[in-house]
Amino acid sequence: MPTIEQLKSIAQAAIDERAEWLIEAAQTILANPEPGFLEVKTSRFVSEKLSELGVSHQSGIALTGLKGVIEGGRPGPTVAVIGELDSLRVLEHAHADPETGAAHACGHHCQTPMMLGAAVGLLAPEVMESLAGNVALIAVPAEEFIDVEFRWGLHQQGALGLMAGKQEFIRLGAFDDVDMAMMVHTSSSNQETAKFALGGTSNGHVVKYVRFIGKAAHAGGSPHLGVNALQAATVALNALNTQRETVLNEQNVRFHGIMTRGGVAVNSIPADVRYEGRVRGRTAEAIADASDKMDRCLRAGALTMGGQVEIVTLPGYLPMKNDPAMTELFKANAGEIVGESELVTHPADLNRGGSTDMGDLSQIMPVIHPYTTAATGTGHGTDYVVEDYVQAVVNPAKAMAMSVIDLLFDDAQAAKSVLGESQPTMTKDSYLAFQNTRLVEELYEGK
Ligand SMILES: [Zn+2]
Repeated sequence: MPTIEQLKSIAQAAIDERAEWLIEAAQTILANPEPGFLEVKTSRFVSEKLSELGVSHQSGIALTGLKGVIEGGRPGPTVAVIGELDSLRVLEHAHADPETGAAHACGHHCQTPMMLGAAVGLLAPEVMESLAGNVALIAVPAEEFIDVEFRWGLHQQGALGLMAGKQEFIRLGAFDDVDMAMMVHTSSSNQETAKFALGGTSNGHVVKYVRFIGKAAHAGGSPHLGVNALQAATVALNALNTQRETVLNEQNVRFHGIMTRGGVAVNSIPADVRYEGRVRGRTAEAIADASDKMDRCLRAGALTMGGQVEIVTLPGYLPMKNDPAMTELFKANAGEIVGESELVTHPADLNRGGSTDMGDLSQIMPVIHPYTTAATGTGHGTDYVVEDYVQAVVNPAKAMAMSVIDLLFDDAQAAKSVLGESQPTMTKDSYLAFQNTRLVEELYEGK
């Protein structure tokens, strides 16, 4: 039987041999950006790549998601390697789709290729048969919680329960046979200087879909007969700005949003104005408090104008918890690839400000979500461009394959010890029950 070092070098050599294939896959996805739950071409493409590797898989999970399982030589725990399918929307991004504004301004186009790369390493001769347990290859839709009205519509039609990819995978039971999970996200040289960044946490959030309802009237001839929903929204957003001094710095609260409809004709008093909002914070309590404040401000807008406001609060993400033991394994492997001076480990409470549904999964099982520094520019900006594809795809694929080998070698001793020591804060059932309490619909009459 080969040693663990031999298995890791077999896996790395196999990934090196496929490096060009993996990088080309990332560039194909980059050129075909699709936002969450619309990743039809991307999902089909990743499915074809899995088939090329001989991995049988299910597709259409949570609309566009995929899942394949590779079995080890003996039974044992299941480790998931995850990649995200979706793009963002950033108009004028260098690689934006001119029709939809969809763009990979967060580097997700590298993630399913990383997952495929890890699979290449693990499928190399002798590797899986030397391991005790399975590897689930999971391509999830919709990590970026955008297009809120569209997702709320899918929920109302019954096509979705929870409205983000990993959340819905959890709800559908697609993680029921998974014991622990890992994925790697790209980062930019203006955020991280080392090649791999580990540890840290993220904000949780709730999501708002808001409709200010007024009454249309001639904007020149009889504005007094209308109820101006745009004025209601303006008052609400000004009111929201008054709340920023009422939240604690250490809770990292952020209120933000976009107006998705401001009216339909300039000479008609706007009667239907739409806003998509986000309330972020470090803890569930801080988020709930800030969410109540946002609701008060939205109602204040409707009250001022004597209109109505419909507020839908959608269950957003939970803060990220990186498993310390899995972090150490990944770190050692990443150090072997890029050298220890190219690693940084952030304290567990270093909050990156953004949010991810990997945080949701981290509440119910041990996970890691390290970053690989491969891009330049500003995340979610027009200039976020992956420059170093070896560091974006090949190196993370190797580090994940090697970490899976660590976890499942020697009768999966390391995986069993991770499971023995990790203390999930929620079960799947308590997670779903909690998220259910965060879905609230309200129609406020501003009288
Ligand atoms: Zn992202």
